[in-house]
Amino acid sequence: MFNRDYNENPFIVIWELTRACQLHCLHCRAEAQHHRHPLELTFEEGKKLIDDIYEMDNPMLVFTGGDPLERPDVFDIAEYAIKKGVRVSMTPSATPNVTKEAMQQAKDIGLARWAFSIDGHCAEVHDHFRGTSGSFDLTMNAISYLHELDMPLQINTVISRYNYDYLDEMAEMVENLNCVLWSVFFLVPTGRGKESDMITPAEHEKVFRWLYQLSKRVPFDIKTTAGQHYRRVVIQQKMREQKGMSGAEHIFYEDAINQGKTGQIDGLGRAPKGVNDGNGFVFISHTGDVFPSGLLPIKAGNVRVTPLSKIYRESEIFQNLRNPDKYKGKCGVCEFRHVCGGSRSRAYNITGDYMESEPYCVYIPKAMRQKGKQKRTV
Ligand code: SF4
Repeated sequence: MFNRDYNENPFIVIWELTRACQLHCLHCRAEAQHHRHPLELTFEEGKKLIDDIYEMDNPMLVFTGGDPLERPDVFDIAEYAIKKGVRVSMTPSATPNVTKEAMQQAKDIGLARWAFSIDGHCAEVHDHFRGTSGSFDLTMNAISYLHELDMPLQINTVISRYNYDYLDEMAEMVENLNCVLWSVFFLVPTGRGKESDMITPAEHEKVFRWLYQLSKRVPFDIKTTAGQHYRRVVIQQKMREQKGMSGAEHIFYEDAINQGKTGQIDGLGRAPKGVNDGNGFVFISHTGDVFPSGLLPIKAGNVRVTPLSKIYRESEIFQNLRNPDKYKGKCGVCEFRHVCGGSRSRAYNITGDYMESEPYCVYIPKAMRQKGKQKRTV
């Protein structure tokens, strides 16, 4: 896992089993529908896909949707993958499909983790965001079943205008819920998500710093999605805290930053290198289309026609995304581009160009500050 070369193999694969879902979330990337699509990948096609995923040095596999539980064969697919040795987790929607029996079944087949979305510290905020009243209470009930079954819980939260004022309350709730991982998503304006729902670039920075402080005292891990610049903030804070660093330690840090090998220094520990869209990360849609991320809707191929490994390794868009030196604007010259690189999805959805700079980062790279200085002294 720690020597994984993202040019060859992803760190994580997300498979959207179906787009069917009973919820109407405001930000829904998939613009989920009530009914399953007739051209969804079949169980047999899914098995072939899992074989291919496994051959890519066995990355983590996440089933998403829509609501994965809308597929009656979801546990057969999961069982096939788990029996092969793949670590599978799932992000079902909090609907009446989430029964104790379903969770027991998931546990029996060896599902690694179950993730629930909670986007507010109370029913009012969460249900508004999820577009369905009663969703908060359903989620809390489901979490209590999960605890009864002693299954590891992951909580996913989308940070937006609607919950930005309640960060401390949310952290307290997440702490009380005894999760192993808090996965914090930063909104990308795609699908039903709008730019007006997003927090500002300065607010992103504030949340990252707050998350870093929180990460030092809570027992669960924290990771960000579409918040690649959190890695930059963590490294900056750690370097600041180690003021008395020796010359050799400094060189070690700088080398790791330049090569993107921050697995050991940023304390985010799970991935050996900064994961980004198409770079350690790949998304397969319900009909088999392959994208660098579910939030970056540029199709690179379809697994019905081409093996996933070939698309991931050889498609031009994936290759471009794995080359931060080609990024445009400040991300292209930023000293953190190999560990951060900004959200390629957000760059695409806001500027129309996935190689453009992350529009929601306040950082001014060293190279640009030096240029500015030179100009002033001329
Ligand atoms: S400028 Fe780009 S690469 Fe640098 S920290 Fe910001 S988002 Fe990351």
